[in-house]
Amino acid sequence: MGGGPVVYNFNPGPAVVPAAVLREAAENLVDYRGQGMSIVEMSHRAGPYEAVHQDAIDRCLRLYGLGPEYAVLLLQGGASLQFAMVPMNLLREGRSADYISTGHWSQKAIEEVHVLGKRCRVAGSSEGQHFACIPSQEELDLDPEAEYLHLTTNNTIYGTQFQSLPRSGGVPIVADMSSDLFSRPVVWDEIGLAYGGAQKNAGIAGLTVVIIRRDLLDRVGAGQGVPTVMRYRTHAKTNSLYNTPPVFAIYLFGLVLRWIECLGGLEAVASRNQCKAGLLYAAIDGSGGFYRGHARPDSRSLMNLTFALPDKAAEARFCAEAEQAGLVGLRGYRSVGGVRASLYNAMDEAGCEVLAGFMRDFARRGA
Ligand SMILES: *Cc1c(COP(=O)(O)O)cnc(C)c1O
Repeated sequence: MGGGPVVYNFNPGPAVVPAAVLREAAENLVDYRGQGMSIVEMSHRAGPYEAVHQDAIDRCLRLYGLGPEYAVLLLQGGASLQFAMVPMNLLREGRSADYISTGHWSQKAIEEVHVLGKRCRVAGSSEGQHFACIPSQEELDLDPEAEYLHLTTNNTIYGTQFQSLPRSGGVPIVADMSSDLFSRPVVWDEIGLAYGGAQKNAGIAGLTVVIIRRDLLDRVGAGQGVPTVMRYRTHAKTNSLYNTPPVFAIYLFGLVLRWIECLGGLEAVASRNQCKAGLLYAAIDGSGGFYRGHARPDSRSLMNLTFALPDKAAEARFCAEAEQAGLVGLRGYRSVGGVRASLYNAMDEAGCEVLAGFMRDFARRGA
């Protein structure tokens, strides 16, 4: 957006935000709807901000089709803080939780359980397959007594995604949805808690969205060593106004959710995301092996597409030439290499078509 060159932003996060949202936020930044001050200058306990806050929460519940049995918490600290808050609040002394290990972020979540001196089991892993796939239901070894089953719905770095959630046998699922929030409808039947930072699919950095089934709010009760600000109950009780919330990120989050509603909701967004990813997977599959997708086809992500070229030099040239053509943010994660295109909700089909065309052209010249 803006007056600069046309750029298609494939950054993994922070990432592209709908241009219409940025424009509206820019217009309101200095003077919020004729109030004579910016939304970032107002009290978080005054009317105009409270309306913004409640609107974001309501839209979040509405989009996911959730009723009052769930609470939406607007927190800070990123998904990384949730790696700790989840076991602090949901994993009781002497009990154990199950974790499915599908990549870097799952492993970070598991590490945090150990930091807290708590117990968890790896109930399934694709580490032996270089995180190129999602374990099937049959490959899972679930503990029916587990406090919860933690999984990463979309693996941002490896480019894999749960196509549907596993059946957990009534054990609450805890889902790190950082990189596929609001990208498709979600079946909530077994989900006890879902979380994610807003900076990938739902706005800007600084806001972490937590959706929690209310019956889980009191699992680890007060007086059991969880600091006040780290307790889900604290934030549920105060409607996420226990302390100063990240007001601007929440304002933007609400605008993004409204934008999604205008697109037709999550069903419409999901089919748009299918189309977008389809264009690029077709470019990979049609390249005669020039591009090698990392993810196994049955585990492919619609959000982050990862692929390798014949060698590192070709990958470097690919990213440099792409950037020249206005296609930015395509370098793979530092420890993994290769190319990664992140196609979050705000990336439009036109951007995907331009990238697919560039890929075909580059392969023709490079092959
Ligand atoms: C980006 C990401 C994280 C880390 O999020 P922060 O907000 O930086 O803490 C965790 N999990 C997944 C799946 C991610 O994509």
